[in-house]
Amino acid sequence: MRVVVAGGGVAGSSLALQLASQGVEVDLYDRMMSYGKACGDALTLRPGIEKLVEETESYRGEVGRYTVRVEGREVAYVGLGRRNWVIIDKRRLVDGLRGIAEAEGARIHYRPWAGEKGDITVDARGPYAWRLRGSVMVYRIIARAEWERDHALLDFRVSSRGFYWVFPADPEGKMVNIGGGFEEYPKLGQVKASVFRYARELLGGFEVLDERGAPVTVKGPILLHDGEAYRVGEAAGLVVSTAGEGNRPAILSAEALAGAILSRWPGDVLGEYRRRVSGLIAEVRASRMLLSFVESRPREGAKIMASLPTAFWRDYFQSRVTLSRLALQGLRSPRLLGVLPRVLLASRS
Ligand SMILES: Cc1cc2nc3c(=O)[nH]c(=O)nc-3n(C[C@H](O)[C@H](O)[C@H](O)COP(=O)(O)OP(=O)(O)OC[C@H]3O[C@@H](n4cnc5c(N)ncnc54)[C@H](O)[C@@H]3O)c2cc1C
Repeated sequence: MRVVVAGGGVAGSSLALQLASQGVEVDLYDRMMSYGKACGDALTLRPGIEKLVEETESYRGEVGRYTVRVEGREVAYVGLGRRNWVIIDKRRLVDGLRGIAEAEGARIHYRPWAGEKGDITVDARGPYAWRLRGSVMVYRIIARAEWERDHALLDFRVSSRGFYWVFPADPEGKMVNIGGGFEEYPKLGQVKASVFRYARELLGGFEVLDERGAPVTVKGPILLHDGEAYRVGEAAGLVVSTAGEGNRPAILSAEALAGAILSRWPGDVLGEYRRRVSGLIAEVRASRMLLSFVESRPREGAKIMASLPTAFWRDYFQSRVTLSRLALQGLRSPRLLGVLPRVLLASRS
């Protein structure tokens, strides 16, 4: 069996690694010799993911405390003692995964994918697989500035349909990753200006070490196969929209597809892939529903976000928000119970 993978980002390179290590012939295409796309560099841990971070030596730090603001006002604070979010050196992670895949026998071609096909073809081109449909431009700065080394801040701007984040960027508390993305600002220059403004207000003085922007797919369908190729990661639409979280979904969907190929090919690979990725799909669907609900009523949406119980935010930061979890929490929180039917209705309309 020969597998062609288009795009060697987080999803494509982890898929190539997993298949090649099981003796599958893999051709991976990426247009960049070294991964360089902008990211917040936060990664929610799961057992298999932790192993990849260790193997690529891409660990940079860890987040244990999370603050939520809505329109600049603090509404929740969550402390999660055990390992949850790590901050990674993402270039090191992706380049490392590519290196291990190559050592396992994968062939890596550093040029744009031109439609080459294998017995199985996989599109892992991230937001570029969608020609940027459903994406929002996001900008981030890595700056030298004092910031608590285990503290993450999210500041939701419901009126602009997006959020700012501030994450630690090193283990010493001397560097931050500060960024944002808003549907209100479709042009990169607008997002960049707003992120710089926010950074000045929040941090005062800072020295810019690196700055760049990129698109992230927060809307649009979830698509596991497009008739020609399987899709993984952001190319499959697997981004938790309310958090802009795509790293963990990219790795988990690659793991699911690799497992399906290895166990089912030439049988029902798609059915098995769908089954293995169903938990992730439930999470992404819930995030899309919440997003469309909040966006359809910005004023009410901001109030509701500000009044969500801490239990919701605990789930949110652990990437465990699904409609069934929300319903369970709703039993204990009348505020949430009041919102849920309206979320469902809004997402249908
Ligand atoms: C500014 C920003 C901050 C973010 N912060 C976070 C965060 O903190 N945590 C988180 O979990 N997620 C975050 N995300 C989302 C996350 O970065 C992505 O969802 C994730 O990288 C998706 O992985 P992927 O492998 O599917 O796609 P990508 O990482 O985008 O990889 C796609 C690969 O395909 C290659 N490619 C594209 N077109 C072609 C072509 N024609 N031929 C060959 N190769 C091609 C690219 O070079 C790239 O290597 C952020 C996104 C942005 C833009």
